[in-house]
Amino acid sequence: MAEKTKIGIIICDRYRTCAGGKCLRSMRNREGAFNRYKDKDVELVGYTTCNGCPGGNIEYAGDEMVKNGVQVIHFATGFLVGYPPCPYIDTFKQFLEYCYGVEVVLGTHPIPQKYLEMHQSLGTWEDGIWKIWLKDTMTDEVTRLAYN
Ligand code: SF4
Repeated sequence: MAEKTKIGIIICDRYRTCAGGKCLRSMRNREGAFNRYKDKDVELVGYTTCNGCPGGNIEYAGDEMVKNGVQVIHFATGFLVGYPPCPYIDTFKQFLEYCYGVEVVLGTHPIPQKYLEMHQSLGTWEDGIWKIWLKDTMTDEVTRLAYN
């Protein structure tokens, strides 16, 4: 049996009622940040929310996911596209990578086109760091529209 990459997904609590439709679809189709697994099998070993600002569940979710063998933790695209985007992205990423030795990837499904247009209007993503943070989920317009 081919070895699977074990992944976990943490979503922004603003979207706590989300059933994971876009994340799971993009994981299945290897789109957005899941394109990195296009030639690999993946297994979802954890899915939860940050539990609301300032993200008290990041610590516990990391611990639980590691016990389930997680190798890569994805922060859902909602971290990036919310109004405003999560202000703790960097802290959470550093904490999980340092504390648990896992890789943290920013994003899951492709950025929906409507969010791109709104953030362009608001100027949210003008700082240079956003180019790096959005690189896995920006995709192309056809794909972004498919996730609107
Ligand atoms: S903005 Fe950040 S800390 Fe606040 S609910 Fe969303 S992911 Fe959690």
